Amino acid sequence: MAKEAIVIGSGIAGIAAAIRLALKGYAVSVFEANEYPGGKLTTIQLGNYRFDAGPSLFTLPYLVDELFELAGKNPRDYFSYRQLEMLCHYFYEDGTVLHAYADREKFLQEVENKLRIDPLPLKEYLEHSTYIFERTRHSFLEKSLHKFSTYISSDILKTVSSMRKLHLFESMHEVNQKSLNHPKLVQLFDRFATYNGSNPYKAPGVLNSIPHLEFGIGSYFPMEGMHQITMACKQLAEESGVKFHFGERVQNIRISGKKVTGIETAKGFYPAELVISNCDVKQSYRQLIPQQKAPKKTLEQEPSSSALIFYWGMKQSFPELDVHNIFFSEDYQNEFKAIFEEKTVCDDPTVYIHISSKVVAADAPQGTENWFVMVNVPGDQGQDWEKLRSNVRKQVIQKISRILQTDIESLIEEEDYLDPLRISERTNSFAGALYGASSNDRMAAFFRHPNFSRINGLYFSGGSVHPGGGIPLCLLSAKITTDLIPD
Ligand code: FAD
Repeated sequence: MAKEAIVIGSGIAGIAAAIRLALKGYAVSVFEANEYPGGKLTTIQLGNYRFDAGPSLFTLPYLVDELFELAGKNPRDYFSYRQLEMLCHYFYEDGTVLHAYADREKFLQEVENKLRIDPLPLKEYLEHSTYIFERTRHSFLEKSLHKFSTYISSDILKTVSSMRKLHLFESMHEVNQKSLNHPKLVQLFDRFATYNGSNPYKAPGVLNSIPHLEFGIGSYFPMEGMHQITMACKQLAEESGVKFHFGERVQNIRISGKKVTGIETAKGFYPAELVISNCDVKQSYRQLIPQQKAPKKTLEQEPSSSALIFYWGMKQSFPELDVHNIFFSEDYQNEFKAIFEEKTVCDDPTVYIHISSKVVAADAPQGTENWFVMVNVPGDQGQDWEKLRSNVRKQVIQKISRILQTDIESLIEEEDYLDPLRISERTNSFAGALYGASSNDRMAAFFRHPNFSRINGLYFSGGSVHPGGGIPLCLLSAKITTDLIPD
């Protein structure tokens, strides 16, 4: 008889962990509080417009493909994606527009033409980003940082021996300022701290590996939108024998002595030898195992930022915009100070506009566009979100209208929003954090909760535990977790 395993939550890491466990021979059940799969990686429909509700940037797609290959299937029978030739359109208040081409030579040429600077420092910076990524991926991203075996591998020796070049003791911003020869480029590369909800003025320079994901490996987009990642993986899970229980919130994890025995929902007790919680780790300790001693230091780490998102069905299309667009604030340092110190939003926040209908024509009626408009904000600490949302909406509309020289408010024909309260309500994310803990401390990677626990049979997988948030790291989290579990 196959051993019973339970996964709490059908976020992308929950589904990936369920697939991997099923392929190891476990009888796997996933319990999901929502009536739908995917957690943050879900979709919403407003009239004739479809939106990806959360993630919009898809990097390291091979990590999704790997799940299908592991099951002996062709990933292309389930889901397809294409590589984007244009990574992002960057708009600055002084009218400068930088097109970040995926093609390295074209991007360097663009920077030389538009900023009138020597592109060599940028070329070297991007090469160094690749170097940091390659030096750190095996030790920091692909293995448990909490197992002795990780520290006796040859990878870790290589990492330690190149410590100085990894910029662990400088902030991302300090390194960017030293390495790049134009403030607009410094701001552009500081922005990569937001890819895991952190502050570039605090996060260690080792995170300057993140640009390599886009500029080195590439940015991709699923042919039917980001939500297709969830749906394809759910289909693979079901074909691998995983059973989903939607609309069934887990109320607690039952433990006897030092061993997991199962979970409880409103419908009763479900026995299991193994439980993987894909629920935010802080909430797991608070809600599911309140009787267990929580690792205080780990859970007290500064949370990552959250987001305020407006979903706008726009009755016009904008050729000057691409799939990913950034409208920078004039004072970036002040923006991060507001988010992480003052726990509010500054008067001129950076605005991200994602338009999936540029790739997926069916996402918006012809001649229109589906705008996902996002501003980084602090996590919920009881702020007046209604007031903040109304202020930010006004500022965003003014900023975009000014830069695009179009009255955009009159073009909005469908509208909804997501804020930290809704993110927390819909995904059980502590304070609505997008990526679990931030990386604002240079030791953050080591303080993140491990993928296992002191309780026999209880594991964790997802954006709030090692190696961190974002789709690729969540997929790696599922792999690290299930690799720790015997067949
Ligand atoms: P989550 O998506 O957090 O899901 C957890 C699931 O567990 C939820 O479905 C929840 O209902 C369920 N659950 C919780 N508690 C219980 C319980 N007690 N019982 C049953 N079920 C429970 N990442 C990128 O890679 N690229 C991006 O562009 C990007 N942009 C983002 C933009 C936004 C607005 C947001 C919100 C996130 C973004 N992210 C992005 C981050 C990314 O979405 C997350 O890191 C990732 O999806 C988290 O997956 P997860 O597996 O940790 O679970």
